[in-house]
Amino acid sequence: MRRPLAIALLCATALVATSCAPPSGEPVKRKIMVIGIDGMEWDVMGPLLEEGRLPTFARVMSEGTWGELRSLDVLESPVIWTSIATGKLPEKHGIMGFAKKPSAGGQPVPVTSNVRRVEAIWDILGSEGWSVGIVGWLATWPAEPVNGYLVTDYFNYGWAPRQDGKEERLTFPPGLAADIENLRVLEDEVTDERASVLINGAVPEDEVLRKRFNSLKMCIATDETSRSVALRLADQMPVDFYAVYLKGVDGVCHLYWVDMMPESGPPISDEEVEMFGDVIARYYEEMDDVLAGFIEMADENTTVVLTSDHGHSGPKPTGDDYRWGIAMHDPTGVLAFWGKDIAEGQQLADASVLDITPTILALCGMPVAEDMDGSVLTEAIDPDFLRSHPVRTIDTYEPERESVNVDGREPIESPIDDEVRERLRALGYIE
Ligand SMILES: [Zn+2]
Repeated sequence: MRRPLAIALLCATALVATSCAPPSGEPVKRKIMVIGIDGMEWDVMGPLLEEGRLPTFARVMSEGTWGELRSLDVLESPVIWTSIATGKLPEKHGIMGFAKKPSAGGQPVPVTSNVRRVEAIWDILGSEGWSVGIVGWLATWPAEPVNGYLVTDYFNYGWAPRQDGKEERLTFPPGLAADIENLRVLEDEVTDERASVLINGAVPEDEVLRKRFNSLKMCIATDETSRSVALRLADQMPVDFYAVYLKGVDGVCHLYWVDMMPESGPPISDEEVEMFGDVIARYYEEMDDVLAGFIEMADENTTVVLTSDHGHSGPKPTGDDYRWGIAMHDPTGVLAFWGKDIAEGQQLADASVLDITPTILALCGMPVAEDMDGSVLTEAIDPDFLRSHPVRTIDTYEPERESVNVDGREPIESPIDDEVRERLRALGYIE
């Protein structure tokens, strides 16, 4: 008899105090905003934070919870971003790399959404009645139906949508692509003047420098597209769960790391170091601005998740040569939570990319699935919220599926595959 009485007294006290609602099994309506920045690295951010060059990141860190983010064994971005969105390891979600060679032979085909065989966080929340909006997330083309809108990663390439968009499936709903096409910035539309903001000095005339300068435009184009699409849609079609993916930081780290740290790679000219040495820092400053734009949209009911998929480092020496591409990805990335019901000034001890979906579910008052490989980062959540909404679990969110052999799924070819492969080659991801 003692325990029920004690609990009854505790509840009565809690109700009188009203600061602490009784434990609830109900979902919590809030806005979730996920901002994904590919390849963001604490070692780059550290000195910039110290110099006061990243005021928005600094604000998110001081008012929220942040820390190192453990990535997967496989440091290929579509694999990791799919683990972030599903809470599951690659062998469960099915996305195993940037591209896959068709079993019939031929060039590798960039990985596509049909290869993913488990529910993403936006599917789970959407089926529970949350409205969702996703912009640019890797491996989301062709667009699958969601309870809201989805702009695929292929929208940022030079593929002109037709009016009804059904064939291209660049977006869901299919007609959305034509409505937002005017926001798309292609690489050759980025002016020299715009790109020169990121370098020291005037636009180079020397052929080698000029070629390296032009590579900046690939990064600028894709992020300007995602940023303006994301901000426009957030304004015109507000949703409960919102996720945007930004690719450019990874690109500039691959292309200009040796200029920032000349001792990390093969010898380069003094002109290159002088001209491109500050590109990465300036790009991070631009990301701080982008983050500020999203933070401005957050109301008092919004929780923000800021995440990368892996960190970055220089090329890896292998005797007389260097390994570039994926070898430059570091297994430790960046994670921060900010806003409603987030603990203030806390640090994450051992966060994994697999923990992000379970943590979002907990913040939404939804059960975490036992078949997910991550767990809830409780240290990031306000203790009052956790007391009133203890973490619950269910077996799975996966619907009963027909017994088809999903392991043999092949990526779908598209008219922009050459363009996608060219960008993957430019960063050293495929040969
Ligand atoms: Zn990445």
